[in-house]
Amino acid sequence: MNEPTVFQNDLINASAGTPNPARKGGLLLRLIRAAQPITRTEIANRLDIDKSTVTDNVKPLIAVGILREETLEVSGQGRKPRVLSFVDGRDYFIGVNLGVRTSQVGMTTLKGEITDEDDFTTPPNAETALKMARKRIDDLIEANGDKKCRVIGVSIPGLTDAARQKLIYAPNMDWRNVDIAGALQPREDIKVVVENDATAAAMYEARLKIRDSDGDGLMTNFVLVRSGTGIGVGLVIGSEVYRGSGIGRGIAGEFGHMTIVAGGKSCVCGNRGCWEKYASAASAASLYTGDRPLRPNESMPRFVEIVSKAENGETRAQRTLEKIGDYLGIGIANVIMGVGISRVIISGRLVYGWKYIQKPLHEAIERSIIGKLKGWSVEAGEPQGAAIGGALEVAVEEYLAHGF
Ligand SMILES: [Zn+2]
Repeated sequence: MNEPTVFQNDLINASAGTPNPARKGGLLLRLIRAAQPITRTEIANRLDIDKSTVTDNVKPLIAVGILREETLEVSGQGRKPRVLSFVDGRDYFIGVNLGVRTSQVGMTTLKGEITDEDDFTTPPNAETALKMARKRIDDLIEANGDKKCRVIGVSIPGLTDAARQKLIYAPNMDWRNVDIAGALQPREDIKVVVENDATAAAMYEARLKIRDSDGDGLMTNFVLVRSGTGIGVGLVIGSEVYRGSGIGRGIAGEFGHMTIVAGGKSCVCGNRGCWEKYASAASAASLYTGDRPLRPNESMPRFVEIVSKAENGETRAQRTLEKIGDYLGIGIANVIMGVGISRVIISGRLVYGWKYIQKPLHEAIERSIIGKLKGWSVEAGEPQGAAIGGALEVAVEEYLAHGF
């Protein structure tokens, strides 16, 4: 495949001061995707580049039918704006979110709508789980024979290799060294990219931030804390996810296993007192039951059940969520101190209990040294990003960065 011409022009000079010359070129496409339909003038203003540079970049993509420009029908008088958007209908992307309990397979287009979604209970065995996902991928490809599947994005709660093809270790699934791309790739011409689920959720949230931002906000920095069965952390620096470097590429953000209680509860990773044993959505169940063994025929309450009990006024459920918020805040203060990024987004099913979690979380950060600083923030993200949305984002971002 030829190098895309789209990034090889004056944009490189226009992006003086940013470390990655392709960044604004990449951002231009990401901005169009996030904010479509959007005018050339608005793109130029938001990226702080010349309108002619925008034109130089979008022209070849309009010519090959990736972007379209059309007149926006608006009521009232005056000039009708010409707006850019991605062409729908020719390319699509498949996402696979492999979760500890449930997994989803879905598809999207460059327009951004999720057009298909199916979920299944994740079997404990990796091979069986990947076969189930592969079956759904094959079905989607067969049902969309008139279109072209470009990239398959996979999100998983674990460490991936630097090439983003294999899973190294997913502690809560007890999967090790699994060639996920090899198992899921249906054809040579369809690329498979495997990403940590917190990083995938961070990519999803980054698109929302790009959509809603003006100029400066396009260089957004935040930490995403994804709390579900475990805790994963995704880092976004200058609107790009950070995965680590060198042999550490793919493992940045493994904060779920930092010790916050010395000699505390044992964790699947082999250590004790890990953050995710105290602040994950799953840890709420054992906090709620008082860490006692289950009675016969008793099952652990699900997180959403605890939230609904809290909403019905049950004190024990409310205290449980508040305690989770406290532990979450303790860990977040450590993360902020460690990475020096003061904006935090919470993702995963924990956000359903945000009403109860938010206050003790903020109080825990206030008590830390970070609390003495101004300008930190913690907000709840979109639940979709932690599920199929993140996996689809991985697929589309790969295409925008290296595709065509
Ligand atoms: Zn651990």
